Amino acid sequence: MTLLSLCGVTASYGVSQALFGIDLDVAEGEVVAMMGRNGMGKTTTIRTICRLLPVTGGRVTFEGRDIAALPAYKVARLGVGLVPEGRRCFGPLTVMENLSAAARTGQWDAARVFGLFPQLESRQGQRAASLSGGEQQMLAIGRALMTNPRLLILDEATEGLAPLMRADIWAAVNRLKRETGLALLIVDKSLKELAGVADRAVIVERGNTVWTGAIGQLTADLTERYLGV
Ligand code: ATP
Repeated sequence: MTLLSLCGVTASYGVSQALFGIDLDVAEGEVVAMMGRNGMGKTTTIRTICRLLPVTGGRVTFEGRDIAALPAYKVARLGVGLVPEGRRCFGPLTVMENLSAAARTGQWDAARVFGLFPQLESRQGQRAASLSGGEQQMLAIGRALMTNPRLLILDEATEGLAPLMRADIWAAVNRLKRETGLALLIVDKSLKELAGVADRAVIVERGNTVWTGAIGQLTADLTERYLGV
């Protein structure tokens, strides 16, 4: 069943239009990679899904329900969990406080987050601001999981991290797919890792969806043309 669906979505920052026609679907249990060069509209698309930016045209539905006019907190309550670009943990709060602040009833609790990220368990009394970048990223993912989402959106979750930390994050993403069947929408520049976990890819170019298909169908020609690799 389709969980999230965007059809012809447009959005602007003031008078400056950033999205011109985004089409994107994520089915239950599916992992979708949203790709495209810098500045093409991936983060803006995520912001419109989470209602952090108004949708000016097109349709955004979650489980068939139009969410384009809902406030952000209601979209979150419907089951859209966001791990935003730049992590944004609450620095002065401890690891446990960050997790508790996000908690909603469901399968995910702090113990389960610590099972996914054992590094966080020994740091549960430590302030988030004192964690390494990778640990803060783990905390940001854990915090989003504590909301017990149906769909988890990861925006550049491995950006700027040391290779070992990146490997840990990808291992966790793979576990989430394998063990929980959580639907995931992932924006990331690591093509190799995305290819290992995603079912489908959507390529965004200048605010438009220009290609959608099984990740295995991404040819070298397409990646060169749209991703510059
Ligand atoms: P990146 O990989 O660099 O994050 P992206 O694909 O996520 O790129 P967006 O951040 O969505 O791209 O940017 C899409 C367009 O919207 C760009 O032209 C960008 O300059 C513009 N834009 C992004 N944020 C704002 C903002 N707060 N105000 C005005 N324009 C913005």
